Amino acid sequence: MTFKRFAEYLARIEAESGRLEIIRMLSELFSELSPEELPKAVLLLTGRVAPEFLGLEFGVAEKEAAKALALALGADEGEVWKRVREVGDLGRVAEELLPEREGGIPLLEVYQELLALAQDSGPGSQLRKRERLAALLKRASPLEAVYILRIVTGRLRLGVGEATILEALAQAVLGDRGKRPLLERAYNLTSDLAYVAELALKGEEALAQVQVQVGKPIRMMLAERLPSPEMIMKKLGRHIAEYKYDGERIQVHYDGERFWIYSRRIENITHQYPDLLEAFREHLKKPYILEAEAVVHDPVTGEPLPFQYVLNRKVKHLTEALMERYPVRAYVFELLYLDGEPLLDLPLVERRKRLESFVPPSERFEPSTARWIETVEELEAFYEEALEVGDEGLMCKKPDGNYEAGKRGFKWVKFKRAAGGRLADTLDVVVVGAWWGRGRRSGTYGSLLVATYNPEEDRFETVSKVGSGFTDEDLQKILPQRLDPLRREEPSPRVWALLEPDVWFEPGLVIEVEAQEITLSPNHTCAYGKVKEGRGLALRFPRFLRYRDDKKPEEATTSQEVVELYRMQWK
Ligand code: ATP
Repeated sequence: MTFKRFAEYLARIEAESGRLEIIRMLSELFSELSPEELPKAVLLLTGRVAPEFLGLEFGVAEKEAAKALALALGADEGEVWKRVREVGDLGRVAEELLPEREGGIPLLEVYQELLALAQDSGPGSQLRKRERLAALLKRASPLEAVYILRIVTGRLRLGVGEATILEALAQAVLGDRGKRPLLERAYNLTSDLAYVAELALKGEEALAQVQVQVGKPIRMMLAERLPSPEMIMKKLGRHIAEYKYDGERIQVHYDGERFWIYSRRIENITHQYPDLLEAFREHLKKPYILEAEAVVHDPVTGEPLPFQYVLNRKVKHLTEALMERYPVRAYVFELLYLDGEPLLDLPLVERRKRLESFVPPSERFEPSTARWIETVEELEAFYEEALEVGDEGLMCKKPDGNYEAGKRGFKWVKFKRAAGGRLADTLDVVVVGAWWGRGRRSGTYGSLLVATYNPEEDRFETVSKVGSGFTDEDLQKILPQRLDPLRREEPSPRVWALLEPDVWFEPGLVIEVEAQEITLSPNHTCAYGKVKEGRGLALRFPRFLRYRDDKKPEEATTSQEVVELYRMQWK
């Protein structure tokens, strides 16, 4: 396929808002691609040339890309940039200035060029990247240039999520979009869409057999919530409860030689914990994949400090001094692979046994504190104990539960309480729109339209307008900085809203909010019609708490969770 044909598909997909129609178009596109092209096209659809966990970025700012365009056109850089400022979209300027061309560049060739561009680094790379991009643009037709530029500058906004890509792949390759779970399983185990596309081409058997691989992040299993110890006992019966530590969740991979540490967002954060790795290297000799919570402790008192302290380690150059100031300890709660054997499908008790015999307590890490719980009283007492030693609460786990990669379910239930009669837990919501402020807030975003995620439909459903809890700095600096690059003319096709904010955003920024109550509302689309015909669910008196940069929009609170929270209020 030529990149031109691919770009025509992208343009059609971008203009479409119906999810089923998008799946149909994607599946038509996938059917037209050769087996060699398909995995690369799937990556390009996500705006990348390699799976996200490899962290391969283009490193081309919009201004640099404009210089490349000027070079391709033999035009003046200043003039091109001026035009970009006027039009507000570099792609459109390229479309306007480049001459139409017959044919098109082969998709594989564009992919190779973009890959080479992303891989180039070090001294002089900026200039080399500019020249490579200019050479590509020189050969490109206007529509090809639009998408090449959007991809390299990180502005490809097709409104297509991973779940939708997987569903279209199921349709195109397996002939049935209902087979998405097969692909989803492979994706949850490897976090690698291109690899899943390759496997799908080999057939269902190959997909069903895929196993975890050391080095490729496993999408993390998540917990549900229940409001009271009584309900937790009712749901789980006799179970294993563990301290719930308030740090950063890490997934550590070791292949006998190399280490990788992945975050909740499947980012490679190996560089953030050299001290931990040293300890792991010293004590754990066989290849493994484990999960732990990395918690910063007060260097003087040894007390655990809240999650925010871990952020101090998220710097480009982590120095010895910073590591000493923010020492971490890891509490290991999962062993998912050991010495050639995947352990995900074993019951928790079995995994826990192996974990305890493989992971000795040491000065930098230890197995999470766990206890068998049989009664409500025991659960309460263990919860109090967790709070006393400075942890957040408990994680209650079903003893026979397997590890369900990428899923949130009742095999793990979190138990924490909030003060003052507020909801038992906070919500993580995605900003999809905003209204301009008035009075003292004029010129800034006065309130935000926020949404929950509906994974079945792969869409964001609005749940509230949030205007309080923001500091002046949030309003004047932080929010514009983070939201302006996400602005779009129309709502994203993945957003379902009944309200009309002044500004729409690509779903990108996740924030944590607390609220007093969940109510029925005709204005919001969260779980619309699920609890009551013609009504969605909405937050009452919502308040901004903090930014959740560790979460992708698809990891926000789901609409189904809000239904559960709504029902819990009456229990
Ligand atoms: P979620 O998306 O599940 O709401 P969150 O980041 O908002 O995640 P919580 O809901 O408070 O966090 O709790 C889940 C997190 O608790 C896990 O992702 C993990 O990082 C952390 N955690 C701490 N201790 C444990 C433990 N013993 N077992 C499992 N997870 C634990």
